[in-house]
Formats: sequence, C-alpha cells, structure tokens
Amino acid sequence: MKIRIETGDITKLNVDAIVNAANHSLLGGGGVDGAIHRAAGPGLLAECRLLHGCETGDAKTTAGYHLPAKYVIHTVGPVWGGGDCGEAVKLASCYTRSLQEAESKGCQSVAFPAISTGVYGYPKDKAASVAVSTVKAYFDGRQDSCIEEVILVCFDERTRAMYEKLI
Ligand code: ADP
Repeated sequence: MKIRIETGDITKLNVDAIVNAANHSLLGGGGVDGAIHRAAGPGLLAECRLLHGCETGDAKTTAGYHLPAKYVIHTVGPVWGGGDCGEAVKLASCYTRSLQEAESKGCQSVAFPAISTGVYGYPKDKAASVAVSTVKAYFDGRQDSCIEEVILVCFDERTRAMYEKLI
C-alpha cells in the first residue's frame, strides 16, 4: 500500500471510494459533505436516508452516483473539545472503519479528506498525525489487502505541508 498526497477537490477524484466527513444524521451538511452531495446528486441523499445515521468514529458506505468514485464511505469525525474527550481515538476509528468498509467492497484506491479539521475544529497538525499513523498501522505487516493506494486529500497548502512532513 502506498500513501499519496493530493491537493484539491475530493469530488473530482477517479478512485474506487472517497470518504465523506459527514455528520450524525448523514443527511448532508456544509464543507466536504455539501460538496460531495452536490456532485453526487439526489440519489446519494435518498440512499443516506435508509442508513438511519452513523455514530462518531463509525463508517457506512453508499454508491457514488454521479461522482467518478464508485463508493462514498460516510464517517463521522469527533468535534474537537480540547483533546481530553477521546478525540484522537475517535478520529483514528474513522480512518480504520473507513478502510474496513473500503476493503469489504474490494476497493483498490481510497481517498480521505482531512476529517474533523473544518467545522469540527480539530487542530490540523494533530489530525494529520492521527491520519498518517492510523493508515500506516492499519496496513502494518499485512500483504493481503485489496487496497493499493490511500490518497490523503488536502484543501490547503498548510495541511499538505503537514502530511508531507509525516510521510
Ligand atoms: P468536519 O465537519 O469533519 O470538520 P469539514 O467538511 O468542515 O468537516 O472539513 C473537513 C476538511 O475537508 C477541511 O480541512 C476542509 O478544508 C476540507 N474540504 C472541504 N471541502 C473539500 C473538498 N471539496 N475536497 C477536499 N477537502 C475538502
């Protein structure tokens, strides 16, 4: 498995699965969630309604509809509350559960946005460190995964610089 960093809009990526930083309801929101729903079209919201929400740290998969990606894996990141509320464990769980979902669908490529680092207020440097260490740990000592590439998508150069330092 190889980790690649990409700057830009996750909805444009031609990968097997993109991960959505969703909220509990899975019924759409702002930020990357809004962008994914706009690009995927109304079919995505209709399928999300059938999922009855998602817990923080968990992930659920839908089709990609009008997106180039086959699947959208919806995960709910923690809201930053200062760091003593189990945020790091919950954020790590978002990455692990999303990779499990991608694997269960036979995906070879999965793209992640910087979960929780927008409206949810998770410090970007701390979130980047959890993202990279959790992805690496997931594949550690494993040769049997169908996932060949994990793309960490940044929307700004600061996040990119942080990822580059960690990889
Ligand atoms: P959260 O509620 O989990 O904080 P946000 O959507 O507010 O989610 O932000 C998560 C991250 O996604 C932020 O770093 C934001 O800059 C980034 N982002 C927003 N739109 C896009 C997009 N279209 N593609 C990739 N990343 C995006």
